[in-house]
Amino acid sequence: MTDDWRRWAECRKHDPEMWWDKDRQRQAQEVCVVACPVVSECLSAALSLGDIEGVWGGLTQEGRRAWVKRSTDLASC
Ligand code: SF4
Repeated sequence: MTDDWRRWAECRKHDPEMWWDKDRQRQAQEVCVVACPVVSECLSAALSLGDIEGVWGGLTQEGRRAWVKRSTDLASC
C-alpha cells in the first residue's frame, strides 16, 4: 500500500495534538468519522503497524484493540 491516501487526511487541517491527547480524542474521532475521506485506508494502515497509540481510522488505541479482538473471535468460530 502506498501512503498516497495521507494527502487527503482531514487531520492535516487540525491541531495534531487532538489525535494524541486522551482528553481530546473524542473530538478527533468526530473529525475522522464525519469529515475524513480516507478513514478506511487510515484504519488499515494503523492495524498493519500493530498496537500503536493515538486515534487512527476513527478509533482510539483501545477501540482498535477491541476491534481486533472481535475480529479474531469471529474468525475462530
Ligand atoms: S481517519 Fe486517519 S487520516 Fe482521517 S482524520 Fe482520522 S486520523 Fe486523520
